[in-house]
Amino acid sequence: MGQKDSVGAPANDRASVQKLRTRRHAQVLIIGGGINGVGTFRDLALQGVDVALVERGDYCQGASGASSHMIHGGIRYLENGEFRLVQESVTERNRLLRIAPHYVKPLQTTIPIFSTFSGVLAAPMRFLTHKQGKHTERGAFLIKLGLSMYDFFSRDGGTVPRHQFRGRKRALAELPRLHPGIKYAATYFDASVHNPERLTLDVLQDGEKAGGADSHARASNYVSLVSLGGSGTPGTPGTPGTPGTTVQLRDELTGEVFDFTADVVVNTTGAWVDLTNEAMGAASSFMGGTKGSHIVLDHPELLAACNGREIFFEHTDGRIVLIYPMGDRVLVGTTDVDADMAQDAVCTEAEIDYFFDLIGHVFPDIPVGRDQIVYSFSGVRPLPKHDATQPGFVSRDYRIERRAAADGAVLSLVGGKWTTFRALAEHLSNDVLAELGMERKVSTAKLAIGGGAGFPDSEDGVQRWIKAHMSAGRDAARVTGLLTRYGTRAEEVIRFLDGAAAGEPDRLLHSTRELSTRELEFMAAHEQIGHLVDVLIRRTSLAFRGLVTGELLNEVAEILSGPLGWDAARRASEISHAQEVLQRFHGVRVHSLVA
Ligand SMILES: Cc1cc2nc3c(=O)[nH]c(=O)nc-3n(C[C@H](O)[C@H](O)[C@H](O)COP(=O)(O)OP(=O)(O)OC[C@H]3O[C@@H](n4cnc5c(N)ncnc54)[C@H](O)[C@@H]3O)c2cc1C
Repeated sequence: MGQKDSVGAPANDRASVQKLRTRRHAQVLIIGGGINGVGTFRDLALQGVDVALVERGDYCQGASGASSHMIHGGIRYLENGEFRLVQESVTERNRLLRIAPHYVKPLQTTIPIFSTFSGVLAAPMRFLTHKQGKHTERGAFLIKLGLSMYDFFSRDGGTVPRHQFRGRKRALAELPRLHPGIKYAATYFDASVHNPERLTLDVLQDGEKAGGADSHARASNYVSLVSLGGSGTPGTPGTPGTPGTTVQLRDELTGEVFDFTADVVVNTTGAWVDLTNEAMGAASSFMGGTKGSHIVLDHPELLAACNGREIFFEHTDGRIVLIYPMGDRVLVGTTDVDADMAQDAVCTEAEIDYFFDLIGHVFPDIPVGRDQIVYSFSGVRPLPKHDATQPGFVSRDYRIERRAAADGAVLSLVGGKWTTFRALAEHLSNDVLAELGMERKVSTAKLAIGGGAGFPDSEDGVQRWIKAHMSAGRDAARVTGLLTRYGTRAEEVIRFLDGAAAGEPDRLLHSTRELSTRELEFMAAHEQIGHLVDVLIRRTSLAFRGLVTGELLNEVAEILSGPLGWDAARRASEISHAQEVLQRFHGVRVHSLVA
């Protein structure tokens, strides 16, 4: 399950698949194009390793596209005693603020607190005994202690200010719509990633670029690992006789199956790690994923009440939940329930009730209705197998499991947050390099990611950048949109848009002023669009913000048809596929304009 984006329609001959088919061996094959697989791909490519990656759907369509968008130290992991993880997470948060400033931004966070001493005994007991007793609310004393430790871990980052504690009166002056029953509010800084899908794509493209002209780094979406291989045409690379593990890959757009071999296979399929190992003939039981959902609200009153801050708090059941502004929308999440991998992860009616209830807990006089939900999403956290009664207390740390294969090794990643992907990728790559007998050449710790390179470091700088890239047909709003979507990679996009001068002139779409015809052609040429829905959900944030209309579906499908070679039948199937994915997985009903 979880194969959200398969329509089984024939596709054009994709260059990304061609690169895998024409050279069917790599030193390393990574299975899974979430942030952890893609991060590892980039790291290995930078070390000069011959590396290939396959993702069965679109990049970032699994847990990586379902996160709460927080790049955070994980203050609540302190009560589990996970100090290593918190320290690594805080360090990585500070690094990402520097190396990916186009997508990762500081996030002011406020915790409303309703009691002074609650939980003071429960949390240390949990830490000391590793037992989950009856839930006790976390009071001010405990939160203050946690935030002081958090500041301590952040001390050498210098990226975010220290926390502040406010009494009731000042807290309500700053956030007047908060529940009048609060006693304190603690405010500190973490970070958020407003476009995780595009950050994943940037990391991927950095890897491909590092692969150079000889393509020693190749990646394709809509290609899945289906089984162990060995049934290919004798004599071709990637079949028996070639050293390494042979696996069978399937192009999910054409159905074509081919063998591929690698000295080391890296299984970064997240919550599906055990299923992938089983497909490779070596069953494992490492995983115990939990499902989490979110809703996105178009709710100006709630947006204003947050005053630009994330409201991060403990709900009545002890779960830590959040409400926070993302652009002009409000994100509310999340749940944490043991996942059934045989079922698709979707946001249920019961979860929506839970979200409404938690909003009422901190903003009691702000009504919320289902008609204000513009989007919902769900995913499965790739957590280790556990026997915890409260999934919130399962470790968020990661580990790497090694299995010797006939002629090489298979490394499986168990766990791994978004926040720590760079450090994790370095760790996983080091293990791969050891398998290959190679040395690390480059550290990624200070290496700017994609459109984060040269990104202006002040609001003035941003304004100057925008002004410098305006032209007769491109106003400030359009340049701002491009800079937000691509970071400084927008320069490459603008060059492409301007390349239209000789042919059909570029124009904004009728259905949205946020995209132009040439920009869609750019995506088709450079961003591995497999389906129409990829553009709506992962190349832009149009779906997330509830801006997909029937007119938009038609217009985008029409424009993509040229560069992607879609005929009328394929165009119609792409439109209905997009409608189905949006309705089934994101609670969005879009009426079609096609007969
Ligand atoms: C609800 C929720 C909230 C979260 N919030 C946060 C947060 O705020 N901050 C944070 O740091 N972390 C957060 N996380 C955790 C974080 O999102 C994940 O841990 C991380 O994204 C995992 O990335 P991954 O690459 O390991 O796995 P995934 O992103 O799940 O990637 C695995 C990929 O493998 C692919 N795949 C599966 N089988 C095959 C196959 N046979 N062949 C090819 N490909 C295959 C899948 O399609 C998938 O794309 C959250 C997670 C969830 C679910």
